[in-house]
Amino acid sequence: MAGEALVLIVEDEPAQREVLAYNIRAEGFAVATAAAGDEALIAVRETPPDVIVLDWMLPNVSGIEVCRQLKMGADTAKIPIIMLSARSEENDKIRGLETGADDYITKPYSVAELLARLRTQLRRVRPATVGERLEYEDIIIDLGEHRVYRGGDELSLGPTEYRLLSAFMERPGRVWSREQLLDRVWGRDIYVDSRTVDVHIGRLRKALRVAEGADPIRTVRGAGYSLG
Ligand code: CA
Repeated sequence: MAGEALVLIVEDEPAQREVLAYNIRAEGFAVATAAAGDEALIAVRETPPDVIVLDWMLPNVSGIEVCRQLKMGADTAKIPIIMLSARSEENDKIRGLETGADDYITKPYSVAELLARLRTQLRRVRPATVGERLEYEDIIIDLGEHRVYRGGDELSLGPTEYRLLSAFMERPGRVWSREQLLDRVWGRDIYVDSRTVDVHIGRLRKALRVAEGADPIRTVRGAGYSLG
């Protein structure tokens, strides 16, 4: 579903891969999988994930090498990587982190532990996907309960307007092009006319117009929209 964080799981053991995919999906995240290092590099290029769970020992290209290449790539360096490893030696952990991994977990690990680390990484890159509150001036989104308030009043928003507002409130001040909003709110695989964005921005503005609240959404001519 659009708007969810996408987690890429790179693990060659089918059983482990399935357990991870199942549990991560159950947390409300979208999941992509790869079973080898080269496959992972292709998957990242085709559909950049929000975070990668990367096994160290992989066929074709090792996890360490995948991590090194992604951290050197201009477009991929910022994607958080959590390395999984059966190796417990401190040297390996240091090597993993030196390669640029953002976190490192030793097997066997608990799924709860991995999910906690995953949330920590997602909180940095996609705060609205980990079930918290977003606040901007007098507007509050309760992400856990999917409720929106302005000046204490609960607002009624359609699902698309809700996702639009969440995107804006994750990064106040950021200017979003219509294409970026389409990718983010409607999803990468769906064809929607960019004028549809304007229609839903109009609905969102209307929904936010309560009492004397000013219109918080700014139209940036020739560029798109931003919050504030
Ligand atoms: Ca492995």
